[in-house]
Amino acid sequence: MSTDCLFCRIVEGAVPATVVHETDIVLAFRDIDPQSPTHVLVIPKEHHPDAASMAAADPALAGHLLAVTGEVAKLEGVDASGYRLVFNTGADANQTVFHVHCHVLAGRHLSWPPG
Ligand code: 5GP
Ligand code: ZN
Repeated sequence: MSTDCLFCRIVEGAVPATVVHETDIVLAFRDIDPQSPTHVLVIPKEHHPDAASMAAADPALAGHLLAVTGEVAKLEGVDASGYRLVFNTGADANQTVFHVHCHVLAGRHLSWPPG
């Protein structure tokens, strides 16, 4: 845990969030500034700075987190219509919170390539 990490504080309950799904090791909550009608962030409860470091440290956790993104898509009713998973990593990708999070984006047509 990192006490100066915003998403660790959400896991602790010290910062409120709208939780849509939770397992013992993963939390899914709505993005505060949604970029699409469905915009959910799926995070491990344990602090890892980015997707690569999570996958290297705990491959089972990374796999579980991916499975939870699929459950979130079903709960949000977008599994059939489609959705995008994004792990922004580093400065050029505009990662702003250095606690790994998978964006689940859906509910409108998502252009490709992204801007
Ligand atoms: P990144 O740019 O690091 O990939 O994404 C960070 C995301 O966290 C952004 O989409 C931003 O809107 C979201 N975010 C930042 N602060 C908060 C917060 O306090 N609560 C929630 N629910 N989302 C946040
Ligand atoms: Zn953290």
